[in-house]
Amino acid sequence: MKIVMLGTSSATPTAERNPSATAVIWEGEILLFDCGEGTQIQMRKAGLRIGRLTKIFITHLHGDHVLGLPGLLSTYEISGRIAPLHLYGPAEVQEYVETSQKLLRLTLSYPLLFHEVGPGLVCEEQRYYVEALPLRHVGRTFGYALQEKDRPGRFNVEAALQLGVPAGPLFGQLQRGFPVVTPAGNTVYPEQVLGPTRPGRRIAYCLDTRPCPEAEKLAQGADLLIYDSTYGPGDEAKAAERGHSTAQEAVEVALRAGAKRLILTHIGSQYNVRGKALSMLRRRFPAVEVAADLASWEIPPKEPEVEAKRS
Ligand SMILES: [Zn+2]
Repeated sequence: MKIVMLGTSSATPTAERNPSATAVIWEGEILLFDCGEGTQIQMRKAGLRIGRLTKIFITHLHGDHVLGLPGLLSTYEISGRIAPLHLYGPAEVQEYVETSQKLLRLTLSYPLLFHEVGPGLVCEEQRYYVEALPLRHVGRTFGYALQEKDRPGRFNVEAALQLGVPAGPLFGQLQRGFPVVTPAGNTVYPEQVLGPTRPGRRIAYCLDTRPCPEAEKLAQGADLLIYDSTYGPGDEAKAAERGHSTAQEAVEVALRAGAKRLILTHIGSQYNVRGKALSMLRRRFPAVEVAADLASWEIPPKEPEVEAKRS
């Protein structure tokens, strides 16, 4: 699982920072969180195969989070995309997209499926699901958590053979969690041959927002928290007034939520976290990094706690 930051600026882009967009590349599929202006160009710069994008999750209808949508949808039309594209977000995102399509006379070659987001489960697939919760911004805004489902423990081939299970289809049944009957007539249960369950990875995406319990809930135990960091020290009042967070507030959210890593993004054009400011943040929460456009992070699969401690 790879996370690529496509756009890391706040509302005003800079020469180095595009408006908000984050891609999750995972087993041949791309999931996109927000789609600021120029996102499709950033995807190309990052070397992503844009045809693999299946789902877009929009936090809210502010230009810096959605202005890349018409261009991206239009490019898919030109390239003759056939595969469905799922778009998740507050209801007004649908109106925006449909109005743009109408004015641009854009007839799509592929199904664009809109899903209105509310608190709770947003979508569920075989290996993951996505949850949303309302955040505290100046308009209706949702944060998201991408949760990989727990995976069965490692299969112990030797133990299975010793219990009389022949190599072949019965191995697969045990790996999928079903008991099997051996040729000798003995029942073998999955727990006899599978190690401890391997917990799924969790990525939380919380922008734009004030610190709030909903953001903390999304970030609960997250392997990676991507969080609003529009402002810095001295701008707390401005952050509160405009429905954003400071880098310090982001760190406190990560700490309260027990997140393992924090990426600061939606960086205000007036405020770049570096040097002493970053060192100060790291004293409080060492696993904090500042996003840069096209920077990426690998999130390795997780092993059960007991095994991790042994190694
Ligand atoms: Zn924004």
